[in-house]
Amino acid sequence: MTAPIEPLVNKPQKFPRYNTVLLFGAPGSGKGTQGKILNGIPGFFHSSTGDMFRQLDTQSEMGKLFWGYAGAGKLVPDDIVVKSWQQFIKGMALTNKFLPLSQILILDGMPRNVEQAEMLDETIDVKLVIYLKADLPRMVDRLRQRAVKEKRFDDADDAVIQRRLEIYEHETRPVLEHYAADKIVPIDAMQTQIRVLTQILQAVAPLRDQLDGAMPVA
Ligand code: ADP
Repeated sequence: MTAPIEPLVNKPQKFPRYNTVLLFGAPGSGKGTQGKILNGIPGFFHSSTGDMFRQLDTQSEMGKLFWGYAGAGKLVPDDIVVKSWQQFIKGMALTNKFLPLSQILILDGMPRNVEQAEMLDETIDVKLVIYLKADLPRMVDRLRQRAVKEKRFDDADDAVIQRRLEIYEHETRPVLEHYAADKIVPIDAMQTQIRVLTQILQAVAPLRDQLDGAMPVA
């Protein structure tokens, strides 16, 4: 007797978790700037949840929903963010834009609270957390400047900026406790961009070496 043919559809696919470096820090701490630079280096793939949402058609249902929250300085609900991003990154992998077996994922903007961190544990294997430490009052100036340069409506209003910084303090910063202390790399985000970049590269290079040597990363 031949074995029954297994149905191809509806079969849960088990993907290995993505090797991930989190870019962590307050709004304006430079996560996006550094993430974009790292994305230009072979072996890294930068993904920002804020960028993912901003690329949506503003007239689409999801686009309107995003601006409703972002425009008020609020977080998009956890379920929506995590599921949308999981779908997005899977799409990137299926179209070979992101190569999970050879690239390190540089994740920027997520997790933003402990719930998201728990939800993401099944998808990402966090090897390092790059913690860009910033002086919050100075972040307000940076965000005001970015409002003009990048036409970011959510950076234009002081009350909105304030709310985002408060959410960072109360909801996002506790995420650091979700990860082992030896994975967290604090970096002074008030240094020049090139100094911050140098320190990030020093932290991620050994990880890259390990993957290149096909050694399992501890
Ligand atoms: P910034 O780092 O300056 O706050 P982002 O581009 O990361 O900017 O995020 C812009 C907005 O997108 C946030 O204020 C929030 O409304 C939404 N957003 C991005 N990532 C998340 C997330 N992980 N959870 C909830 N909302 C998010």
